[in-house]
Amino acid sequence: MLNLTDMQTVRSLANRHHFSFSKGLGQNFLIDPAVCPAIAEYGIPDETCAALEVGPGFGVLTQQLALHAKKVVSVEIDRRLEPVLAETLKELPNAAILWGDVLKLDLQTLFAQQFGEMPVAFCANLPYYITSPILMYLLESDVSFVSMTVMVQKEAAERLCAEVGTRAAGAVTVAVQLRGKAEYLMDVPRESFYPAPNVDSAVIRITPHATPLCAPEEIAPLLKMVKAGFAQRRKTAMNALSSGLGCSKAVLADAFGACGLAENIRFEQLDMPTLLALSRAISDRS
Ligand code: SAM
Repeated sequence: MLNLTDMQTVRSLANRHHFSFSKGLGQNFLIDPAVCPAIAEYGIPDETCAALEVGPGFGVLTQQLALHAKKVVSVEIDRRLEPVLAETLKELPNAAILWGDVLKLDLQTLFAQQFGEMPVAFCANLPYYITSPILMYLLESDVSFVSMTVMVQKEAAERLCAEVGTRAAGAVTVAVQLRGKAEYLMDVPRESFYPAPNVDSAVIRITPHATPLCAPEEIAPLLKMVKAGFAQRRKTAMNALSSGLGCSKAVLADAFGACGLAENIRFEQLDMPTLLALSRAISDRS
């Protein structure tokens, strides 16, 4: 198996296949030998589990996933990588590539065709330009993952894993943590990639809640409220929601009172149970 953490091997592959790295597609490939085995170990509970990966690049993480999982399916948008991956994955019959945009995937069909009854873990070094859209697409889909272990920008990792109800949290924190537990696993410095990006990274894991925190129909109004609340952080929660949701102050005062909230509280101070209670209280009164 080609060692894709060896710089000479990576350069030689790129040269032989006339491959130039695309900044637009977030092509910063891992060259740190410790990181991919760690992602595979964190992400794949045992060898009965399958893995779905987005963006194999030259296949450095795909190789490790194939060594740990029963089967790996990797979705890649850049067809220029076809001859490279044919070479780097040729000794791994349990690894398959699907060509296309992950955000256009029909995940239910993919799961039925590729994984059957196997439990599936999602593992990826995500292209940073679409980190949140990919995570939300996967979390909102009808398929279920054992866990999602992903490399993201360090700042995004901190925000995704922040405690809801603290300053570090944002709308995306709530959107993700509504659906799963988010853990910050490890820092990965920029030198661990080729070409090196201008930012540091981190690996996080999202594990879907065994019991959903709310009913499916409660998610949309809650996220609408969360977007409105975080859009104007400097205002009080009541003022932010009044202008963001177009809701009268009287209705909001009543809802805040029902939840035992002070009228001058800021939105970022509301923890997850309070957000759920407040969203229900507003819906009941609108
Ligand atoms: N897994 C490799 C590694 O760790 O070295 C490459 C990771 S690189 C950060 C991101 C990969 O995602 C690239 O191969 C890029 O071409 C691919 N990609 C970017 N946008 C994509 C999309 N919308 N759908 C599928 N793959 C995408």
